[in-house]
Amino acid sequence: MTAMAPASPGDLATIGFIGLGNMGGPMAANLAAAGHRVYGFDLNPASCAMAAVAGVTVSAGVEDAVRHADLVMTMLPAGAAVLDVWRIAVAAARSGALFIDSSTIDVMGARSAHALARDAGFAALDAPVSGGTEGAKAATLTFMVGGTVDAFQAGHPILQRMGRKIIHCGDAGSGQAAKICNNMILGVSMAAVSEAFLLAERLGLSAQSMFDVVSTSSGQCYALTTHCPVPGPVPGSAANRDYKPGFATELMLKDLKLAQEAAGAVGVATPLGELAASLYARFAADGGTGSDYSAIVKFLAAAPREARSPASEARSPASEARSPTRAA
Ligand code: NAD
Repeated sequence: MTAMAPASPGDLATIGFIGLGNMGGPMAANLAAAGHRVYGFDLNPASCAMAAVAGVTVSAGVEDAVRHADLVMTMLPAGAAVLDVWRIAVAAARSGALFIDSSTIDVMGARSAHALARDAGFAALDAPVSGGTEGAKAATLTFMVGGTVDAFQAGHPILQRMGRKIIHCGDAGSGQAAKICNNMILGVSMAAVSEAFLLAERLGLSAQSMFDVVSTSSGQCYALTTHCPVPGPVPGSAANRDYKPGFATELMLKDLKLAQEAAGAVGVATPLGELAASLYARFAADGGTGSDYSAIVKFLAAAPREARSPASEARSPASEARSPTRAA
């Protein structure tokens, strides 16, 4: 939680915050700690109770939470929930309220949410985040924001109370576009880092030596230096707490699927993103749900590959079946 100057009425003083889970809870708490009047609602009573302890006034429903709000903020699991809540909120909010959704959802869903707000006369932003639960608690999130320049300027001060970097990416939906591209890189790089640790181990390298070299070499990346998938080198990574999330496998799978949907919609080939989505789908189906996404290293470790040389590959039944000469 952060110590900041109290909010003044001009700073979107009253906030209706819907979705008080792992991310929304601490974000709403930071706004309350900064002096905003925060009315919150979540379908889960346990989340409401935790938010109440952190200074959020719990409302009976979405209408009650947004009725007096200068800002309506949502932090929900998926696009359908965001649209459901925004449909209720645009009918109940007072004139002039700003709408911000920080959930990670599909680009088309984000554009539909913008249209709902616009048609009801409200300014809106899609503002998904990067930085995880740690960033939500410490108010160090990165916000990737889509919407008009005017709406961005109106929302900027409030986003600064929850984040460190606030980036205007473009028009409606651009924040979500940036988010899924970023997380496609993260999913691909976590799989690559995990494979490299497994290979290094088999080649006789310690995890620490591998980390010391790669973290200062050209393979360096966030998946390695912050979310290191093996225990030891990065004390704060989920690998050191039996892969308790953190960033859950199912959320990574959701983001990789969103990236694939978007790539399909605009006709862009993303073979590595596709492969990462398929690996995470198999890992989730194999019991990975509920673990941190870095636990993919255990899934990959459990799928040993048959040792083979290029010569044996040439002789393998599979390669023979693929041979154009045999097919002819
Ligand atoms: P969460 O499941 O902990 O919280 C979501 C909350 O929304 C839950 O408490 C749920 O009860 C509530 N909810 C669902 N539908 C509702 C409705 N109709 N009305 C009121 N409340 C409703 O999830 P989270 O980890 O807080 O993630 C929220 C969003 O942030 C997701 O879109 C996720 O992809 C994104 N995100 C998460 C992380 C992370 O590290 N957890 C990081 C970046 C982005």
